[in-house]
Amino acid sequence: MPRGASARRQLRDDIPVARRSAPARSRSRGGGARLFLASIVVFSGAVLAVWFVVGTGSRRAEQRPSPAIELPSRPSADGRLLGHFPYLQADRSELISFSPGIELHVDAADALDAMRQAAAADGVDLRLLSGFRSTDLQDSIFFDVASERNQTAEERARVSAPPGYSEHSTGYAVDLGDGDAPETNLSVSFEDTRSFRWLQDHAARYHFVLSFPDGNRQGVSYEPWHWRFEGTADALRLFESARRFTRNPLQ
Ligand SMILES: [Zn+2]
Repeated sequence: MPRGASARRQLRDDIPVARRSAPARSRSRGGGARLFLASIVVFSGAVLAVWFVVGTGSRRAEQRPSPAIELPSRPSADGRLLGHFPYLQADRSELISFSPGIELHVDAADALDAMRQAAAADGVDLRLLSGFRSTDLQDSIFFDVASERNQTAEERARVSAPPGYSEHSTGYAVDLGDGDAPETNLSVSFEDTRSFRWLQDHAARYHFVLSFPDGNRQGVSYEPWHWRFEGTADALRLFESARRFTRNPLQ
């Protein structure tokens, strides 16, 4: 056997089988064309990436920071957005602090104070869980929570109003809980508490109305804890549109 052939076989045997499996000839024949194609792909990818980053940067400057969901561009004919009516934020001068960290419109605060005292006299511990919310806070509650929970705008709107569309921004809406059953806070099970039964029997006397009763035509989920004050002409005017949707059509 010639010395050269023996040396070549020796070299081949040193290379692991797996690495020998690709035929050397075809690799060298198509190598140039593939390299060229790969260059085009890499170059196109780089151009697209630069275009996307630059485009995203300029879009970010105009919009809110990376919303996970998007609202419809225009409300429905009756002014509602995803079922919710539009509300302006209350004037700060009309708000007072009702309890630590919770503000209400002064008229709603007076009525709630009287209602809580009457409930207490009946042995019912009504608690204020939430009142006025700024549009900025509502923005966070709507978009950030939707993002955390991977909800679409439609899904989120069934349980929370979009910013600019919350009754809470008027200062007239309250979320109420039962001090003896805090586990029912902001839950449909609140309807089984003494507080809810007391509210059903007495809230109208203090001009509080359940905003989203079971089966409401507004398409918002049942919220036994959410009541709004309608005891002044200003408040009545604000909720005039919503009033037509509040009643359950079966009632
Ligand atoms: Zn509420």
